[in-house]
Amino acid sequence: LNRRLAEFGTTVFAEMSALALRTGAVNLGQGFPDTDGPEEVREAAVRALRDGRGNQYPPGPGIPELRTAVAAHQERRYGLSFDPDTEVLVTAGATEAIAASLLALVEPGDEVIALEPYYDSYAAGIAMAGGTRVPVTLRPAGGRFRLDLDELRDAVTDRTRLLLINTPHNPTGTVLTREELASIAELAVERDLLVVTDEVYEHLVFDDAEHVPPASFPGMRDRTVTISSAGKTFSFTGWKVGWVTGAPALVAAVRSAKQYLTYVASGPFQYAAAEALALPDSYFEAFRADMLAKRDVLAAGLADAGFEVFRTAGTYFVTTDIRPLGESDGFAFCRALPERAGVVAIPNAVFYDHREAGAPYVRFAFCKRTEVLTDAAERLRRAFT
Ligand code: PMP
Ligand code: GLN
Repeated sequence: LNRRLAEFGTTVFAEMSALALRTGAVNLGQGFPDTDGPEEVREAAVRALRDGRGNQYPPGPGIPELRTAVAAHQERRYGLSFDPDTEVLVTAGATEAIAASLLALVEPGDEVIALEPYYDSYAAGIAMAGGTRVPVTLRPAGGRFRLDLDELRDAVTDRTRLLLINTPHNPTGTVLTREELASIAELAVERDLLVVTDEVYEHLVFDDAEHVPPASFPGMRDRTVTISSAGKTFSFTGWKVGWVTGAPALVAAVRSAKQYLTYVASGPFQYAAAEALALPDSYFEAFRADMLAKRDVLAAGLADAGFEVFRTAGTYFVTTDIRPLGESDGFAFCRALPERAGVVAIPNAVFYDHREAGAPYVRFAFCKRTEVLTDAAERLRRAFT
């Protein structure tokens, strides 16, 4: 393994899912649903396969039907208009969109600011691009993880090229507020920075939280690469259909990198994803309500077992503090948890450069059937009370 990648071994998600299989523990580690998405969307994939649509290389930028559906979605949800031909690119999941964006936009030696804890592929993507990652730590206050705007401002140097934002935020469950995003946008404009924003949980926002795309702020449309995917919104994480929207020059740059990573993403699933994006609002509302109910079951179970539970405003995840259990090392805690309680979780510390800042936090996924969540909660309650 070369020096750029030497620090990245197996992803924590693969390691923890393997541990769950080995021990038979309930897997609330890796974030994937245990029920598949809508039947009609699966049927759309089957139809495409049968009718011979997408069985050979689809067009490099993605099939027109999906690019049009992505543009229509951004317009309908956020009032953002993008030209499907020049401002939308289909990728192999959000993961490829992230890597291709970093490879296309970062020069070796450029600094990339990422919110810490950060999704693991950001660090590897920055490293592959030869960039330097500069983490700005989200800190808990008043039950949620917050961005310190002064800290963000102080992190920008003459070498900063790009801000890598994620909202709703994995693993903390924070949704950046309109005010926080407005300040990020002002800073990006003032310091002439590019922004890459990962919005794969855009449809999973709860209570009074609101998902506002950074691209919708003044001065941001033409400096922002917005990333999302079908995995989370439609419960098909195995399909790996993602997309990028942004100004033509940025999308063309990302496409230049993308064409040498995968060339194109899987054809028949693009047709199905196009149909999924056109589902009526009732689908998105029901999906959100279902996930909200799951969040509440898991959060209550974790609180009963003695964890401090942070408010999840968005995503699939509840972040907890294990110190009320008399524990302080999330790594050791998660390694022992399958034996001790029969549950698998993720230590948030893996998403930090300042590992001590993340040490006591542990993430549990709630994108599971209710009986799985109540079983896990009962196991934790028995182990810790
Ligand atoms: N970004 C975040 C924040 C994620 O949590 C995930 C996956 N869980 C991804 C990107 C990757 O998305 P995809 O599966 O579409 O590649
Ligand atoms: N994004 C998922 C999570 O945070 C994992 C995806 C993966 O395994 N790469 O759990």
